[in-house]
Amino acid sequence: MSPTEPHIITEVRELRGWAEQMRAEGRRIALVPTMGALHEGHLSLVRLAHARADRVVVSIFVNPTQFGPNEDLKHYPRDLASDLSRLRGNGVDVVFTPSVREMYPEGGATWVEVERLGEGMCGRHRPGHFRGVTTIVARLFNVARPHVAVFGEKDYQQLVVIRRMARDLLFDLEIVAGPTVREPDGLAMSSRNAYLTPEARQQARALNAALHEVRELVRSGELDSKRLVAAARNRIEKEPLAEIDYIEIRDAGSLEPLSRLDRRAVLGLAVRVAATRLIDNTILEAV
Ligand code: AMP
Repeated sequence: MSPTEPHIITEVRELRGWAEQMRAEGRRIALVPTMGALHEGHLSLVRLAHARADRVVVSIFVNPTQFGPNEDLKHYPRDLASDLSRLRGNGVDVVFTPSVREMYPEGGATWVEVERLGEGMCGRHRPGHFRGVTTIVARLFNVARPHVAVFGEKDYQQLVVIRRMARDLLFDLEIVAGPTVREPDGLAMSSRNAYLTPEARQQARALNAALHEVRELVRSGELDSKRLVAAARNRIEKEPLAEIDYIEIRDAGSLEPLSRLDRRAVLGLAVRVAATRLIDNTILEAV
């Protein structure tokens, strides 16, 4: 791991120049896109990136186009100094922290949108969200020109959508997925966990508990999606502060709804715990 301080770049032009130079020297570049408020989950992706490339770029950009009008764009946690100190010692070469104007030059009219895959699950509850995600990720790919880009399985639908975008737009890079990093009690790490009051934090454990219960049911032979979803719903509804956005079982690759677990599937859920929207998922495999 490099003990050196990452180089902070705020301009598209400078990152382009850096990437061009690295490529000319034959270096492999890995990109880890984030919105900051970094935690162990993000750092695990940085370590994956470091293992797969010679140079690591972490972008920190709270992307306005992926937030809906009533979402938390204004209040999203931002603390660059703390993020930089977390990244130190993890082998990051460049931290890219552009302004909104830098990533979205005035008068822009171009969007990147993956049809269908981005429509259900989180897409249904956050209209325009994935269009914002794919638009910024495509722009970051064009500027950082990575050979490898690393994303977390925590945002499972996002991962599937980005893989499809990269494939469809012929981006010449590899998408690598990192497993979800959890708190000791099982709650998936998220920048939004900071919003939770102690009481809500306690009740948020129900998300992972529900995933665990469903995996156990599958192991004991239950393959009916409705019954599996009902079990997850029952577990989460025990918590007075929890309000379910969705719980769905879908094909793990195509994200088509599945009524029966006859192939590899993903159980995805989104729950508001005292107004903080949390997501989690698990892969389900009938044996
Ligand atoms: P975010 O900053 O929340 O936009 O996330 C940036 C990247 O980190 C995305 O690829 C996320 O999927 C990933 N990520 C977020 N939380 C976790 C976690 N708990 N474990 C692994 N990866 C994560």
